[in-house]
Amino acid sequence: MSRSIMEATWEPPLTKQKKPRKADERAVQEFQDLLRSSGLRSTAPRVAVLQYLHDSSEPSSHAELFEALASKGFDRATIYRNLMDLAEVGIVSRTDLGDHVWRFELKKGVAGTAHTDEHPHFVCIHCGEVACLPGLAFEVKSVKGVPKSVSKNKVAVQLKGLCDNCG
Ligand SMILES: [Zn+2]
Ligand SMILES: [Zn+2]
Repeated sequence: MSRSIMEATWEPPLTKQKKPRKADERAVQEFQDLLRSSGLRSTAPRVAVLQYLHDSSEPSSHAELFEALASKGFDRATIYRNLMDLAEVGIVSRTDLGDHVWRFELKKGVAGTAHTDEHPHFVCIHCGEVACLPGLAFEVKSVKGVPKSVSKNKVAVQLKGLCDNCG
């Protein structure tokens, strides 16, 4: 990415929130309404997946979701299938941060999530930790000679470096 066409505006990233909050009943109702208005049936695994993604401040892989939700009795295939369903209707976005692992997060405006629709991600080159950078915006100053996908915003911006634990 050349410096001449991109300009970064830096705002501090969201503070990490590792411990998921206990979702209240209002939130569950919100997830159920969201599923129905997207044309999906409201099922326990779907609500659980939405709840988990809503409560995490960084994108989560299928493996992480499975591990977190295993105690609820959902199997791997169920969680995977539901993630795909949610991605297909556009409630959830999928990102590959270069390690060939899909990571999932709730899209903007979904049940009050702080995520913006398109935002860069930070990946630690040492431990692989991933962070969302919703306050970091890239602006394309000129579209001359730039692939169409760039001007259409169909590209992912990723920053690599050392996280606080590794730096
Ligand atoms: Zn690290
Ligand atoms: Zn993100």
